[in-house]
Amino acid sequence: MKSPFEMTPEAMTSFGYKIVDEVVAHYASVNQKKPVSKASRTEMDAVFLQEAPEESMPAEDVLQFVMKNVIPNSNISTHPKSFSFVPSPSNFISTMADTLATGFNIFSGGWMLAPAAAELEIVTMNWLLKIFDFPVKQGGGIFTSGGSMANLTALATARRIKCDTNFSDAIIYLSDQAHSSNIKAIRILGFQKEQIRIIPTDNEFKISINKLKNEIAKDKLQGKKPFCIIATAGTTNTGSVDPLDAIAQICEQENLWFHIDAAYGGAAILSEKGKIALKGIEKADSLTVDPHKWFFQPYEIGCLLVKDKSWLSYTFSEKPEYLKDIEGNESEINFYDYGIQLTRRFRALKFYMSIKTFGLKAFRKAISYNIDLAEQTENYLRNSKKWEVISSANLAIINFRFHPLKYQFDEKQLDELNQKISAKMMESKEALLVTTILQNQIVIRMCLINPNTTFEHVKETLEQCEVFGDLFSKKYL
Ligand SMILES: *Cc1c(COP(=O)(O)O)cnc(C)c1O
Repeated sequence: MKSPFEMTPEAMTSFGYKIVDEVVAHYASVNQKKPVSKASRTEMDAVFLQEAPEESMPAEDVLQFVMKNVIPNSNISTHPKSFSFVPSPSNFISTMADTLATGFNIFSGGWMLAPAAAELEIVTMNWLLKIFDFPVKQGGGIFTSGGSMANLTALATARRIKCDTNFSDAIIYLSDQAHSSNIKAIRILGFQKEQIRIIPTDNEFKISINKLKNEIAKDKLQGKKPFCIIATAGTTNTGSVDPLDAIAQICEQENLWFHIDAAYGGAAILSEKGKIALKGIEKADSLTVDPHKWFFQPYEIGCLLVKDKSWLSYTFSEKPEYLKDIEGNESEINFYDYGIQLTRRFRALKFYMSIKTFGLKAFRKAISYNIDLAEQTENYLRNSKKWEVISSANLAIINFRFHPLKYQFDEKQLDELNQKISAKMMESKEALLVTTILQNQIVIRMCLINPNTTFEHVKETLEQCEVFGDLFSKKYL
């Protein structure tokens, strides 16, 4: 039988080039598009819902249908006016690298199945270890699907090393600004709610060291076993960095595991200002970074770094009989021994190719630009009589609210006003700009990590918000 999936080289070329043309056209025209798309389940069902077809149809027709209906019904995370959540600016080299990795369908689980893929993961991991001032020889790490999986992998490792199988009294500490993926991970690992301490943050949204110390002391008095502190280096809400040196000291004194979730902020280490903000990051036992955020990689790639790579193999290796022929020697790392997945896509390739192509200098330049742009935005807002800055520019994130000085709006009115401005902006689809809540206030949040975002893009958006704000303000007068 001939494989039913076989295509002629001509057909593959023609189909493949069409897709490349679409992606290139998207890169070239993204500024002319609107970043927001919105569709209800009913609308989407009307377009897509059907039984799996038994019969074939031309690939070009399927592609055309996808280009018409799928792509436009997705927000554009690479858009310069995509300000919300954490945008993913991406880059074309990595996009093509992903295509290459998929095209050759390279298995990135064991050394023997793809020595070069494992080697590239070792090499790029060494680059990251060096960037974060982790020990390159003893340290190690693994690429994951994202920050959530990196945090889960880290906490599974922390528990294995610090508690082994007896963790019923183990207590874990994190701030009220820590990312929800940490709580998810803690729950998945089977910790009870009573084993989690959410520590309040100060007025800069950093974990309160005194409250943290008090909780640890209280737990010890009650015979509990503090075992891990999760610090955040670049909180998702405000870009704040917990006091890393002070937490490192506590971990040292109390013999606790020090995990830093730098999924958002870690990449900032490549800039001068970021390096200062992230002082102490090298003291972590385990560190999550997320290349599909501020390292400009396309989805999915997260990363976990650890001080000692044997911690990972101690936590995750199993030796099943069907893998015994590919075990290899010690230096030839089987990444299935370092984490949860056996079969893994070749994530290191895009990271490798983009850094080799552009050079770290390009990354440093882009990240420094992003940090400066957020500071420039803060200046603009502080000099305006219509805006109030709620959280200063931190690692390219800024939070603010529409609060015209000439009116005496109360808190409830301000919340309503800002919610409506964001809703109106989303409705216009001109900018992806949603709110968050800080100290019980509804605020507008901008995350400015796209190197294609100019101050003009920011200003246009703020001016449009001012028009909406002035309009809605009239209602309260
Ligand atoms: C985004 C983020 C995560 C989760 O990462 P994913 O790649 O979305 O899984 C975890 N922690 C922080 C601080 C984040 O900003």
